[in-house]
Amino acid sequence: MAEDSEDYHDDTALRWYLNAYYPHLFSDEERCVIAIAVLRNKQSHRETPIDHAKDDIESYINGSDRIRQIIEGDIESYLDDAARRIISQKREDVFINRCPACQRIVRTPVAKQCLWCGHDWH
Ligand SMILES: [Zn+2]
Repeated sequence: MAEDSEDYHDDTALRWYLNAYYPHLFSDEERCVIAIAVLRNKQSHRETPIDHAKDDIESYINGSDRIRQIIEGDIESYLDDAARRIISQKREDVFINRCPACQRIVRTPVAKQCLWCGHDWH
């Protein structure tokens, strides 16, 4: 079954993909911010008790004013910049698997089927 293509955002898909398959290309600071973003996301979906998430977030911040500043600012654009930096600096290390039919980023680097448009290139 195809996913709802209305939900597709290339920046978000790219970030998710890089984080899932190329986590080593992010800096320690970026990985830390990503971990906090994931926790916040879980928190907003109520998958994690709020107090838990707060403690976990504090442990990631670990007294760093820089991290606190980033997460209190525009965390989304910080992460988009991180993804763009990786794509421009490490282009040869990264394989972005895009669907040949709709050009969306597919689920994994080895996927041969697009969950967005249903195209199959086996
Ligand atoms: Zn597709």
